[in-house]
Amino acid sequence: MKQYYNKKFKPNYHKLEEIDINVIRLLAPNPSPFTFYGTGTYIIGKNELAIIDPGPNIGSHIEIMLKIINKKTLVHLFITHTHADHSPAAKIIKEKTRSITYGYGAYPKERYESQFEEGHDLDFKPDIKLKDGDIVKGPDWTIRAIHTPGHTSNHMCYGLEENSILFTGDHIMGWSTTVIIPPDGDMTAYMNSLRKLLSLNYKVYYPTHGSPIKEPKKFVKALIAHRKMREYQILKELFNKSQSIKEMVSKFYKTTDKRLWPAAEKSILATLISLENRGKVTTLGGKNTRWKLTSK
Ligand SMILES: [Zn+2]
Repeated sequence: MKQYYNKKFKPNYHKLEEIDINVIRLLAPNPSPFTFYGTGTYIIGKNELAIIDPGPNIGSHIEIMLKIINKKTLVHLFITHTHADHSPAAKIIKEKTRSITYGYGAYPKERYESQFEEGHDLDFKPDIKLKDGDIVKGPDWTIRAIHTPGHTSNHMCYGLEENSILFTGDHIMGWSTTVIIPPDGDMTAYMNSLRKLLSLNYKVYYPTHGSPIKEPKKFVKALIAHRKMREYQILKELFNKSQSIKEMVSKFYKTTDKRLWPAAEKSILATLISLENRGKVTTLGGKNTRWKLTSK
């Protein structure tokens, strides 16, 4: 998969970059091992704005958006999902401007995974709940909502129909694979959401983090193949002997930044749960102990 990732990215914090006709990107200054160079907020339109993921609660980032919004008639805030680097700025913008928030729904609190570093925005509730295929029209833009559960159950991608751009949030990132953290993160749903994109014909993907993906279908196919390879790798390891997730991570992610290993453990767990649901593997007692192949 590595050959497909694009780690070239020139961060321009606090600068408005015109990335396509009628589309501006504003990069938030929140770089981390999970966010790459930070959250890319996309601002669409001339008078009535559509903003995809206003981003984290960082004053300097929000100030720039408020300056752009100044005197605009109405702001539509579209949230891809409720991780803390995507949605919290919506609350502050909403307090200070005439705006409407959109998203699939609030984060399902009963599925909260507290250990994970990326963090959740547990307060966000959209004014308008969107369903798969819903269209929202502004004077000079049309946004199509595409429900893509997997990374989180409330994840949405948004198509900008006039430009044939798909804003993929964290569902597809150009610089790294997406982390899937059970129980809300679901590998089976994620794979189905990848396949769903193969039936849509957007010319380019803009993820929240990193550079655009210019050959999207080829990239999605490579992601599917990568996840399938990981499944095969796990089954092969377990064929030899029962193993813990930690043991597998230290083998599969040898060359990966160790700060990402806890997330990698969760991704392996997500794959194991998906295999378990298909009857291929079993735990030897609890999700965090050892796993083995299901004996026939
Ligand atoms: Zn996320």
